[in-house]
Amino acid sequence: DAPTNGKECTRFDLEKETELRFEVEAGEAAEQVELELLTGLAEVFGSELNRNKKYVFGPGSKIAVFTWQGCSVNLHGKPEVAYVSKDTPMLLYLNTHAALEQMRKQAERENERGPRVMVVGPTDVGKSTVCRMLLNYAVRVGRRPTLVELDVGQSGVSVPGTVSALCIERPADVEEGFSVQAPLVYHFGSTTPGTNIKLYNKLTSCLAEMFSQRCEVNRKASVGGCIINTCGWVKGSGYQALVHCASTFQVDVVLVLDHERLYNELKRDLPHFVRVVLLPKSGGVVERSKECRRDTRDEKIREYFYGFRGVSYYPFSFEVRFSDVRIYKIGAPSIPDSCLPLGMSQDDTQLKLVPVTPGRDLTYHVLSVSSVEDGDEGARKSIVEIPVCGFIVVTYVDTQTQLTQEGLERLPPSRSIQNSANRGKMVIKTQIYR
Ligand code: ADP
Repeated sequence: DAPTNGKECTRFDLEKETELRFEVEAGEAAEQVELELLTGLAEVFGSELNRNKKYVFGPGSKIAVFTWQGCSVNLHGKPEVAYVSKDTPMLLYLNTHAALEQMRKQAERENERGPRVMVVGPTDVGKSTVCRMLLNYAVRVGRRPTLVELDVGQSGVSVPGTVSALCIERPADVEEGFSVQAPLVYHFGSTTPGTNIKLYNKLTSCLAEMFSQRCEVNRKASVGGCIINTCGWVKGSGYQALVHCASTFQVDVVLVLDHERLYNELKRDLPHFVRVVLLPKSGGVVERSKECRRDTRDEKIREYFYGFRGVSYYPFSFEVRFSDVRIYKIGAPSIPDSCLPLGMSQDDTQLKLVPVTPGRDLTYHVLSVSSVEDGDEGARKSIVEIPVCGFIVVTYVDTQTQLTQEGLERLPPSRSIQNSANRGKMVIKTQIYR
């Protein structure tokens, strides 16, 4: 255990089909941990490690270094915990990939579409990690699968409160995850689907429609299929949302992680041709506290505006007049059925666009920017159904001089949100998709 660069260094010799699990202490003051592959072959969640390269993991990271053939690695720094496990479900996960790959080969031969896979289970069973591995294995054999992210609480693609789709063209970076170049993002606006389940289901359908359209024109995307990551809410409306997702995406395979009841319910409720598979969770998956989840969400928003690791963005603020923007909220408060106008249902109120008058309470809110031209009723309706082009955060609202400030970064001036009801300005910060 000779120290290098002043950091403590521990060597681990891993036998084949074992994994080294380690966690980096959380908190800003925590020290990073560096991982280096010395001999053999190893991967982190399906991404291969290069030999003699130091991979840096920041506070709060929870990592597994798996080896199929055996390897030696060094850890520099002081992980909160580090141990080797021989008991992993990796062989089952690899077999799952092999079965999906067979389906892709068949799709290729028979001019059909590739597998659409939904990964479900309660929170902290490793759903996102399984998605990442399956996507990595697929892209490593030359496929172009699509990641569909429906976890509005912990999105791996965009800011919290969004659902999205991302075409995967290369394996995830070991430190940074998948490259988020041109995701398709819809703004849901809450970290739990229950806030507006109608809207959540609507956006799921929009994503499915967009994905199907892409598959029609792009054979590789069609054969590659998709891997859908879902929320950990598996009861009541949460369960119904999973059934809805399976139906709207016409999924072929459902992978249920560590939840027998959910497995049986889905087997009962989904059409017989959908293969529902129960998989164990990895013993390495770490439960995250409420605080930890909140911190991850804050970090995701910070990343969006200020960049990540090597890439720094410098958001600048500018003023927008109230008269130059139109701001909407999706979903009106529900009213009793008896009070609804004739011919209108509760569904309509949950998807209704409600104009928002800018006020102080808008300060520090994250808003999304729509590319829809504001005009007639029809255009307004489609605001819900069209992906957003980026996000802004309102940093200051001045109702006195009617000056609202939002922080805007790289926002084309023509694409501002609008509300003509008031004359005033706000300062916004923004960032359009990188
Ligand atoms: P879910 O999507 O079900 O909420 P995640 O896939 O996000 O769960 O996993 C939770 C945490 O556990 C993540 O921080 C992930 O890095 C970590 N993790 C997953 N698998 C392992 C493993 N085999 N060893 C160590 N940590 C793991």
